[in-house]
Amino acid sequence: MLQDLQDWRVEGALNPWRKPGRVGLSVVIPCYNEAPVIDALMARLMPVCEAASPGDYEIVLVNDGSSDATWALITAHAARSAHVVGVDLARNHGHQLALTCGLQVCRGERVLVIDADLQDPPELLPEMMRLADEGADVVYGQRVVREGETMFKKATAAAFYRVLERLIDIDIPRDAGDFRLMTRPVVDTLNAMPERFRFVRGMVGWVGFRQVALPYKRDARFAGETHYPLRKMLALAFDAVTSFSVKPLRIASLFGALAGLAGFVMLGWVLSVWLTSGTVHGWTSMIAVVLILGSVQLLVLGVFGEYIGRMYIETKGRPMFVVRQVFRGDQA
Ligand code: UDP
Ligand code: MG
Repeated sequence: MLQDLQDWRVEGALNPWRKPGRVGLSVVIPCYNEAPVIDALMARLMPVCEAASPGDYEIVLVNDGSSDATWALITAHAARSAHVVGVDLARNHGHQLALTCGLQVCRGERVLVIDADLQDPPELLPEMMRLADEGADVVYGQRVVREGETMFKKATAAAFYRVLERLIDIDIPRDAGDFRLMTRPVVDTLNAMPERFRFVRGMVGWVGFRQVALPYKRDARFAGETHYPLRKMLALAFDAVTSFSVKPLRIASLFGALAGLAGFVMLGWVLSVWLTSGTVHGWTSMIAVVLILGSVQLLVLGVFGEYIGRMYIETKGRPMFVVRQVFRGDQA
């Protein structure tokens, strides 16, 4: 039942893991150490899929290098149901790349992306399908209430979406995560985008098409705890900004202009002191100015470095992720 990756190379060099053909609906779920929730997730998700697209759906569970029993649970589900596809990444690649992998493997005309932890209710699927029937290409869940999350998480998330809005020119919906239903043309466009630093919800906004919001209440995690500590949230924020905006590069000119202005003001002040008292004392202020200018220069260099580092990594052209194996229940 374990599938030799070589089998799928015949289908296309770009995507060796996708089985040929299409299904009506795919659900893509990145899973990282989600053993406590997998069973509950499947119990809630399967009936919803069966109702939305009877017999014609697949659930793609991407194991993002979990160190717990997640993969064993995924294969158990895949062995029981032909609708379940398990994809095992070679190591932990992070949420956005696990999601990207799922999008490349799935075969659905419509694709639902959802977190494993049941924070996003699968029961919204019929409503999303209805909006897609009415012509939407992307139906994204917009969180109006977030339960079971700390004040800190809510505040940082709110600040993040608002700062991002000011920095970038494309429409990235506020307070929307990756919980969304997309049509095949949108998924194909995403799959054709080669960048390694992926901020998927931003890329979906970039693609365009007809995007419709579906407000919902985000529940607390069913079990386990968040895998987005501050460090990962900051990394995601950096990826988001650098992938979609070059405005930070321009802060160098802004700082330069400000420092120049301050310099002239100070010169005026020094001259007036010199004219009235004849002497100027200024070691302390000079050191202060040198330090401030030095730190601004280093800061700007750091911003440049952030972009150059990303360019360097992108030019290496390594694969975005490595798949260890694909497990399909229907391959017995
Ligand atoms: N996730 C992943 N790889 C990671 C971290 C998270 O695949 O390195 C998955 C995780 O299993 C979940 C989703 O991404 O399905 C969102 O993660 P989480 O619930 O921890 O984030 P939060 O909802 O707290 O922002
Ligand atoms: Mg979560």
